[in-house]
Amino acid sequence: MAEKNVYFFGGGKAEGTADMRELLGGKGANLADMSSAGVPVPAGFTISTRACAAYYENNKQHPESLQKEVAEHLARLEKLMGKKLGDANDPLLVSVRSGAAASMPGMMDTVLNLGMNDKAVEGLAKVSGNDRFAWDAYRRFLQMFGDVVKGCDHEKFEEALNSVKAEKGVEEDLDLDTEDLKKVVEKYKAVYRDHVGTDFPQDPVEQLWGSINAVFGSWHNPRAEKYRRLNNIKGLIGTAVNVQSMVYGNLGDTSGTGVCFTRDASTGENYFYGEYLMNAQGEDVVAGIRTPQPLQSLADANPEMYKQLDDIRSKLEKHYRDMQDLEFTIQQGTLYILQTRNGKRTGLAAIKIAVDMVAEGLITKEEAVTRVTPEQLDQVFHPMIDPAARKSAPVIAKGLNASPGAAAGEIVFTADEAEDWVKNKGKKVLLVRRETSPEDIGGMHVAEGILTSTGGMTSHAAVVARGMGKPSIVGCKALQIDHAKKTLTVEGKVYKEGDFFTMDGTAGEVFEGTLPLIKPELKGELDEFLAWADEIRTTANRPGLTDQVFRIRTNADTPGDATVARNYGAQGIGLCRTEHMFFEEDKIATFREMIVAKDVEARKAALAKLMPLQKKDFVGIFEAMAGLPVTIRLLDPPLHEFVPHEAAQIEQLAKSTGVSVDELKRKIESLHELNPMLGHRGCRLGITYPEVYDMQVEAIMSAAVEVAKKGMEVEPEIMIPLVGAVKELSILKANAEKVVARVFEEAGTTTAYKIGTMIEIPRAALTADEVAQEAEFFSFGTNDLTQMTFGYSRDDVGTFLPQYVEDEILEHDPFAVLDQTGVGQLVEIGVERGRKARPDLKVGICGEHGGEPSSVEFCYRTGLNYVSCSPYRVPIARLAAAHAVLKNR
Ligand code: ADP
Ligand code: MG
Ligand code: MG
Repeated sequence: MAEKNVYFFGGGKAEGTADMRELLGGKGANLADMSSAGVPVPAGFTISTRACAAYYENNKQHPESLQKEVAEHLARLEKLMGKKLGDANDPLLVSVRSGAAASMPGMMDTVLNLGMNDKAVEGLAKVSGNDRFAWDAYRRFLQMFGDVVKGCDHEKFEEALNSVKAEKGVEEDLDLDTEDLKKVVEKYKAVYRDHVGTDFPQDPVEQLWGSINAVFGSWHNPRAEKYRRLNNIKGLIGTAVNVQSMVYGNLGDTSGTGVCFTRDASTGENYFYGEYLMNAQGEDVVAGIRTPQPLQSLADANPEMYKQLDDIRSKLEKHYRDMQDLEFTIQQGTLYILQTRNGKRTGLAAIKIAVDMVAEGLITKEEAVTRVTPEQLDQVFHPMIDPAARKSAPVIAKGLNASPGAAAGEIVFTADEAEDWVKNKGKKVLLVRRETSPEDIGGMHVAEGILTSTGGMTSHAAVVARGMGKPSIVGCKALQIDHAKKTLTVEGKVYKEGDFFTMDGTAGEVFEGTLPLIKPELKGELDEFLAWADEIRTTANRPGLTDQVFRIRTNADTPGDATVARNYGAQGIGLCRTEHMFFEEDKIATFREMIVAKDVEARKAALAKLMPLQKKDFVGIFEAMAGLPVTIRLLDPPLHEFVPHEAAQIEQLAKSTGVSVDELKRKIESLHELNPMLGHRGCRLGITYPEVYDMQVEAIMSAAVEVAKKGMEVEPEIMIPLVGAVKELSILKANAEKVVARVFEEAGTTTAYKIGTMIEIPRAALTADEVAQEAEFFSFGTNDLTQMTFGYSRDDVGTFLPQYVEDEILEHDPFAVLDQTGVGQLVEIGVERGRKARPDLKVGICGEHGGEPSSVEFCYRTGLNYVSCSPYRVPIARLAAAHAVLKNR
């Protein structure tokens, strides 16, 4: 027997069930489910998504078995309804509706009133006692069938309708009577004939197959494909088709149609929200020809009707245990539900509804936690563009959504100007640059948002903006920036410094002008919700791990960031980058003196000046993180990044160091490398300039001792970057231990501390058993590890990576989403071999992936002790971790 591809629903029964959405689509599965649950749903049948896939596989042909199944189900429907398609006395009309497993509202096609023809129109007029209604239904069907199935020009139908209206001297459709509509029908038939070349088909079965094919065809229309791409809907085989008996919302003043949400989809309030139109058919509400009424006015106009609907609302919410978005039609006082689905909602509403539903006893805390996506949670921490204003605002450019939230302001092209405009002119600015560098930090700090035309998800702009919790879009190729002229050109249109822009870092979209921003408001619900997530995370059972708790740490370089992160729930610092400190005004000059020093003595002198400054930074950080571990990475970037390149700055440095300009230039030149990312950096600096690391270790440990003396608990973890061979680590560790011993001796006291390494070079992961002989902890630096595993320079990927993702050569940008297949293997190997040598080895991750939900899950599964992410992502990581625990239980 051929496989079953058609499923009946109606009369209080159904062949399908709610869990068959892959096969029946969301709409079909829920129509079947509602039928079985006794919700009034017009009867019909669903043709499976498998039939859609087969249709495409077989050159747009249907197997005989499907034709037979459809005929049988149609006969069954006609029998149940006591009506026949095309009947001259009491015709059955049906709708043919799309519906895939993932909701794609309005993206695919629907045909209503199918079965209409010259005979059926007379029959419908007779049984309804309403000639006008019957002829209106006929002309609507002609138009929809012509448009959707045959691709007739929509405007031709409009013109035909308008010509009849003009002849009669009226403006509204409703002013046309039966005789006028008959004329419209004739004209529509002519439009059809002109376009298609044959007469409009009177045979309902021909109409039906034409419409089924059109709905299958709409699966691949450009609009639907784009929607799937934008919403990352993958792995679906096609759309189902629902053939359903029509109910009429346009049968007079006791009929109507509408759409509603069982709770408010933007705030989550438990308030029945919706719109409806009396005496109208479904499309009228959406088409916007008439303005719909708010649902609450139905309560006044027709309390009986409203009550029926409100009862269904509670019934559906209890049944689906989630907020529903439903479509209804009232036919002469009788209510029908045409569709229900879990309603789309804002992040704010998602949290509020989840928390409320737990209080109402509808769902468990665990379900509440699974109901909210990390993206939705993220929304409540950032301002967003007012959705109403956004609808009509055109997007002028799109880039990578590097850091979420929305911002508006005047555009400026340099960091200095950003600072000047904000501090001296009291303006709000967006900093727009080709790319940013450490020297731009000040301007980035005061800008509302940061926009660059180059760079990827781990570019400087992206990483720093995320750290600051500021909206950022990077790699926005459509922006042609002329830094000299201070202009920005987008598709030929030129913008100047001071023009107003709005950006949405969550979507990666740029708008012209100022759009209104709103900040979501949540009170107790958010804390309660996150507490549930923490409960799930911290009570996970992780056999084989010394410390069972999966922790969330943060990447923070300043006491301010550390405090923000701690308030968001961070349980320590996983990465404190010491080099950012050197860019601060009080340190950069001394740091440069250190780099260009003639000899070891001069270098030591400069370092001696830096030591107390670094120590002060660390004291602040240890205090902010009292009682929690703080991992501090020793100097990592190539020195070349710190030296001046402009003549004036070089001269100034010459003056302050007493080194001649020529010699300085030679020195700077000598630091130049062809591949600095693979060059003289990380622990390689520690090996060649041991006094630099010595100074940093001294600063860290003397700060630790000082804070401990004040009675606070400190847990310093000294992290040595870029280790590739265990010998590097053993030398540097021995050096560090000597310094620690000296600090302890001078202080007359000790503190706990650890020395460990970053695993960011593939070789370190592969030889993790050797490395773990020396390292007391590992932290996977997955930015560099990704860079070195793929061989992609993380600062230059803008040129090809977007296309790689577009063409699906790679599923994701590996700098944003950890590549579990490749880079992930190195992490797994590192963990396994490392723990073989040292069973209690503490392992974490501190790359940008630490706050990305699928990567967090990977880290949990792989047995990491913690993930570390930027402060503003800590709540996201808490939720993602809870999801990971639930998924892997
Ligand atoms: P979409 O997926 O785009 O929402 P639908 O299949 O839900 O498309 O159809 C759009 C509208 O057509 C529905 O909201 C409803 O108002 C109307 N409609 C569809 N089927 C019927 C039916 N059997 N009876 C009455 N109206 C219908
Ligand atoms: Mg719908
Ligand atoms: Mg690194």
